[in-house]
Amino acid sequence: MHVLILGGTTEARALATALHPRVRVTSSLAGRVAEPRLPPGEVRVGGFGGVDGLAAWVREHHVDAVIDATHPFAENISFNAARAAATAHVPLLALRRPGWVRVEGDDWHEVASLEEAAGVVGGLGERVFLTTGRMGLAAFAACPQWFLVRSVDAPGPQMPARTEVLLDRGPFTLEGERELLSRYGIDVLVTKDSGGAATAPKLRAAREAGVPVVVVRRPPVPEGVETAASPEEAAAWVRGLEGF
Ligand code: NAP
Repeated sequence: MHVLILGGTTEARALATALHPRVRVTSSLAGRVAEPRLPPGEVRVGGFGGVDGLAAWVREHHVDAVIDATHPFAENISFNAARAAATAHVPLLALRRPGWVRVEGDDWHEVASLEEAAGVVGGLGERVFLTTGRMGLAAFAACPQWFLVRSVDAPGPQMPARTEVLLDRGPFTLEGERELLSRYGIDVLVTKDSGGAATAPKLRAAREAGVPVVVVRRPPVPEGVETAASPEEAAAWVRGLEGF
C-alpha cells in the first residue's frame, strides 16, 4: 500500500511516523520552508503542477490513498487534492486539527480573511503582533500601525512600513508568549484559527493581558471530502483501507 501525505504540518509528520514503515509513505512538502522538519519515509518537495500534475503523480507512483494533511489555510492544494483524487479514483481523507475555541475572558474579533483583519486592527490597537505567516503580509502593507511579525523564514518586501521581524518556529510556551507581549507592548494580536497546541499559548497570554485577538476563520474543507481530526484517526482510516 502506498499512501501520499500532503504535508507541511506537525500532524502530517505524526501520521507518517504512525504509518512508516508498515505502509509505504511519501510525504509531499511545498518547499516554502528553507529547512523543514522532515518526516520518516520518502519525501518529495515542490508543487505538482495543479490538479492534472497531482493526478498524474498519483497514477505514476501507484498511490493507493491520499491524505491531505496540509495546514487548514492551505486552500489551493486542498482543492487540488479533492479534484485529483476524484480524477485518479483514489480515496482521499482530509486531516484537520480542530480549530481553537473561544473561552471566557477572550476578546476575539472573528474575520473571514487577512484583508478583513487588516481593516479591523486599527480600531483595536497600535502595536500589532502578527502571527499569520510571512505569505499573507501584503494584506497589511498599507497599515500605519507598528507590527511585530513572527515567521519561520524571512518575509518578502511587501509588509507594513513599521515592522519588526522575529524569526522563530513553534512550539511556543506560555511563559515565552507572556514575556513577548509585555516586552513589545503588544495591544492587539492577529492569528489564523490554525488550531493545535504548538501555537495556542499566545491566545492564553493575550487573554491574561486583556489583549484583543483578531481571528481569521478557516476556509471550508472541499465539499464531500471525509475528514479526520487527529493523526491517530487518520491512521485508523488507512488501516480500514487495508482491510484490517
Ligand atoms: P496553497 O496556497 O494551498 O498551495 C499553493 C500551491 O503550492 C499548490 O497549488 C501546490 O502547487 C503547492 N503546494 C502546497 N502544499 C503542497 C504540498 N504539501 N506538496 C506539494 N505542493 C504543495 O498552500 P500554502 O498555503 O502556500 O501552503 C504551502 C505549504 O505550507 C502547505 O504544505 C501547508 O501545509 C504549509 N503551511 C501553510 C500555512 C498557511 O497558513 N497557509 C501554515 C503552515 C504551513 P501545485 O499546484 O503546483 O501542485
